[in-house]
Amino acid sequence: MADWHALTTDYADTSRVKENSIDVLLDWLAAGLDPERCTMFIQSHVPQHAELHLLFSMITPLGWLERVPTYKEQRENITEKDLSTYGFLGYPVLQAADILIYKGDFVPVGEDQVPHVELTREIARRFNGFYKRNGGEVFPEPQPLLTPTPKLPGTDGRKMSKSYGNTIMLTDPEPVVRQKLKTMVTDPARVRRTDRGNPDVCPVRDLHQIFSDRSTMAKVNEGCRSAGIGCIECKGWAADALVNILNPMQERRKKYEDNPRLAWDILEAGSTKASKVAGATMNEVRDAMGIALEYEAPNAPQAAK
Ligand code: SF4
Repeated sequence: MADWHALTTDYADTSRVKENSIDVLLDWLAAGLDPERCTMFIQSHVPQHAELHLLFSMITPLGWLERVPTYKEQRENITEKDLSTYGFLGYPVLQAADILIYKGDFVPVGEDQVPHVELTREIARRFNGFYKRNGGEVFPEPQPLLTPTPKLPGTDGRKMSKSYGNTIMLTDPEPVVRQKLKTMVTDPARVRRTDRGNPDVCPVRDLHQIFSDRSTMAKVNEGCRSAGIGCIECKGWAADALVNILNPMQERRKKYEDNPRLAWDILEAGSTKASKVAGATMNEVRDAMGIALEYEAPNAPQAAK
């Protein structure tokens, strides 16, 4: 749970940062991530991330960060907060530290995050170019790992993001999910029920593609193009599919909500495991950069000839 990343936009009001981190953990557990197989922890509980971020900040050219598409996009879209801070600009550097400290080969991301993984590769390459350890490279160059549906639209058609207030939450009760779907944007050219639509440009169809079965997808594609179905009906099917997926998740989540200590124990075990790996990587990094913590005898002075 990347709580330091949350600070890049929420630095002025930190009252919900910890609570939000726990919420994310509960969502992951609810979605079925198994703590026996997945190491889950809060970023700030493994402070080595901050040290690697600092060292990467030394070698990352400003131009690389200013070119990142999400930097420009979020500065344009989030106008109610002052994002002219180093922390916000340096967001992808911290991400690079998060990935590379575990020497990740693949990073499961959404489409909008692919440039961040590319930047991570560039930072790894630059570091490896400057510093060698025993003649070898310290970091691998990670690749993005996309799902077949790499972009999840929000109710306003933009990418789904809490910052945009367009999310359907995993914890939303059925009536809220249905209400949010009702107000979701559709193909803007389909104004009247009798207008033929184009599902390829409709964010509701994107939700169907992720959550609905094939027969519903076929009904949506055909019915939309022929004006055989209305958007209200189509959105109702999307809501059905979402509710079917969310109900069992919400039941699983309740187990941890009723016993929060259980979730905290998972976090503590995760931090211990992650810290070991992060600590070992940082030893290699410091060693490669010539700033290892261990004592080294100074070079003996050259004898005068
Ligand atoms: S029928 Fe469905 S896919 Fe077509 S425009 Fe309406 S909501 Fe979108």
